[in-house]
Amino acid sequence: MSDLVVQGTTLTAEGPEPIEIGIQDGRFVEPDGSVDRRFEDGYLLPAAIDAHVHFREPGDTHKEDIQTGTASAAYGGVGFACQMPNTDPAIADAEAYRRVANRVEASAHVDVGTWAGVGPEMECFELGDRATGYKLYSGPTTGDLLLDDPEDWIEAVERAAETDRPLAVHAEDPRILTEARRGEEDPQAPAAHARMRPPEAEVRVLERLAPRAASTGARLHAAHVSDPRTVEVMNEHGLTCEVTPHHVFLDSKDVERMGTRAKVNPPIRSPHTRPKLWDAFRRGDIPVFASDHAPHTLDEKDQPFHEAPSGLPGVETIYPLALARALAGNIHIERVLDACCRAPAELLDVPLGRIEPGHWANLVHVPEEPTRIGKRTMHTRCGWTPYEDHQGLFPEDLMVRGDWVLEDGDLVAKPGQGQFVGGPAWD
Ligand SMILES: [Zn+2]
Repeated sequence: MSDLVVQGTTLTAEGPEPIEIGIQDGRFVEPDGSVDRRFEDGYLLPAAIDAHVHFREPGDTHKEDIQTGTASAAYGGVGFACQMPNTDPAIADAEAYRRVANRVEASAHVDVGTWAGVGPEMECFELGDRATGYKLYSGPTTGDLLLDDPEDWIEAVERAAETDRPLAVHAEDPRILTEARRGEEDPQAPAAHARMRPPEAEVRVLERLAPRAASTGARLHAAHVSDPRTVEVMNEHGLTCEVTPHHVFLDSKDVERMGTRAKVNPPIRSPHTRPKLWDAFRRGDIPVFASDHAPHTLDEKDQPFHEAPSGLPGVETIYPLALARALAGNIHIERVLDACCRAPAELLDVPLGRIEPGHWANLVHVPEEPTRIGKRTMHTRCGWTPYEDHQGLFPEDLMVRGDWVLEDGDLVAKPGQGQFVGGPAWD
C-alpha cells in the first residue's frame, strides 16, 4: 500500500499525457488504485536539481544562508541543490564538511549536497566517496580557494580518479588572465572585464585536464562553460559540462544595459557566442543546466564596475525560465527535463529526476501558462533577479522525498526538513 497516490497530467516527447504515481517512504511506487490527490490543471513534472549554487554560509550570510537559499530553491522547483565550497572559511576538509552538513540538517527547506573544495593540501580527498563531489578553482574568483599551478590541477584530477565522485572545475587559466590584464588599456572600463577574462583561459585549462581525466577515469565536469570550444573538448573526451542561464539567455548587450548586475566569472559573452552555446545546449552537447546562483546585495553590486563583486542570483529562476522556453517552443521539453533533472541526477548519483517507481518522490506541479518575472518577489536574501523581463513557469507545489515543501505557492516546509545528500557512501 502506498501512503499517497497523485494523479494529473505530465509533459512528454509526445505532448501532455495522464500520469498516476504512488508515494511510499519518500519514494515513488506503483499506484495501488486509490487516488488521494488529483491535480485538475497544470502539469506534474520531476523537481529540478541545481548542481551549482553558492549559499554563502559560513561567512557571508548577509547575502544568503542555507535557509534562505533553500527557500529560494523551493520557490523555483529545485528539490536538491548542490552548493559550492568557496565560503569563508572554505569547505576544504572533512571537519568543515561535516559542520556544513549539520547546518543543512538544521536549516534547509530542500535537500542540499556540497562540493568539497580542493585546497593546496588537498585534505578534502580524505572524504573519499563521502563527498557529494569535489570542486577545483583554477582561476581567481570569489573566496580564497585557488590552485593556480597546473601540476596541482593534474594532481587533483588523479586524486579524484581514486574516488567515484565527480570533480567540477572552474576553468580559467590565471596566466592567460594576467596576460590579458597586462594588455588592457582601460582595466576599469565595464567592457574590459570580458576582455581580461577571455574564453581562451577556459578552453586552455580543459584542453590540459580532459585527456588526463579520460585516461585516469576521473569524472571531470566543466562548470559554467562560456565558449563552444570547451564543449567540444569535453564531448571529445566523454566528459560532462554545464551551462548557466545567464550564458544562454544574456549577452554583452545585456551587460551594457544591466552594468555591474551582470558582472560574473566567466563573463557573459558576445551576441555571436550566446546562440552557439544555446544551440549546443539544445542539442544536448551541454548535458547539464546549472544556475551558478551567486547572490550579492544590490549595495555591493552597485559599485564601480571594477570593484563590484562577480555573480548573479539564479536558483529560483533556472527551472521556470527553461520550462517557459519549452512551452514557447524554443527548446524541446525532453531536453529541459534532461538538463534540469535527469543529467544532474546522474552527475551526482542520486535516484532523482524521473517520476518513476524506485526514484525519490520529488515532483513539482506547475501551471499551464508562464508569467512575466517582472517584479515577482524573489526569496533569495539578496532580493533581486537579472531576469525581470523574462517569462517563467513557477511551481505552485513542490514535493521532496514524499513531503510537501511548497503548497499552493506557499512554503510549508520547516527549516530542517531538507536533508544533506552526500556520495553513495555518506554515513
Ligand atoms: Zn560558482
